[in-house]
Amino acid sequence: MRIDLCGVRGSTPAPGSSYERYGGHTSCVALTPDGAGAPRLILDAGTGIRAATELLGARAFAGTILLSHLHWDHIQGLPFFGGGDREDSEVSVLVPDQQNGQGALEVLTRAMSPPFFPVAPDALRGSWRFATIDAGSSSHSGFEVLAREIPHKGGRTFGFRVSDGRATFTYMPDHCPTSLGPGPDGYGEYHEAALELARGSDVIVHDAQLLASELGAEAAMGHSCGEYAVELARRAGARSVQLFHHRPNRTDEELAEIERTLPADPAVALARQGATLLL
Ligand SMILES: [Zn+2]
Ligand SMILES: [Zn+2]
Repeated sequence: MRIDLCGVRGSTPAPGSSYERYGGHTSCVALTPDGAGAPRLILDAGTGIRAATELLGARAFAGTILLSHLHWDHIQGLPFFGGGDREDSEVSVLVPDQQNGQGALEVLTRAMSPPFFPVAPDALRGSWRFATIDAGSSSHSGFEVLAREIPHKGGRTFGFRVSDGRATFTYMPDHCPTSLGPGPDGYGEYHEAALELARGSDVIVHDAQLLASELGAEAAMGHSCGEYAVELARRAGARSVQLFHHRPNRTDEELAEIERTLPADPAVALARQGATLLL
């Protein structure tokens, strides 16, 4: 599979010259199955989804958009996804079941309708289907997906384990393991859902909004430190980690400084907008 990191920033976009190297678009990852010429599965619809349109070239999107949760930085790109908002698109949007009886379209329309936004989700052009998913295994657009609920803050949040039968990719963009306790090293609990999603994975894309030194003051924000992601990968026998969901005010210079201190085993890198990973 091919993985394109279309948006790697956390919480809110970060435009400007201090954020060019790692990128300012919010969460979006596009997955292309072997043999397919364009992305079929998109994880989250942050502002980075505009870059997924570029990956499609002149083609319309035909596939699935899987949302980890419904915070602004994971949905606000949806109406600006040009590859989906055209007459010949075929898009399935899957939303974590909210456990309150509300359907996917109903809950998305709360965030995306007047007076907050002029266009409702079902007014986008093309064929759009909105549905909820629950934790468990399912198949979408050429991939097997395992969804597990993971702790975050304010709304039900899933992490995903995506496989094409050959390679495995783990996606946990927003994750607050300290909400389950400090764990053995103070970075948060290495709980079963996180371990299951990460076990033996080729690449883990994981929340690294915070540094360990910031956890004490900011753990209540609902995020992890990068150190947790590295130790999770070690415990789960994962091959590599992409630290993701960078804090919006963390400059290129500060991120490069962090990158210089990363361990070599497992292989760890800071996620960069525009990077492509081939598995
Ligand atoms: Zn987020
Ligand atoms: Zn979030």
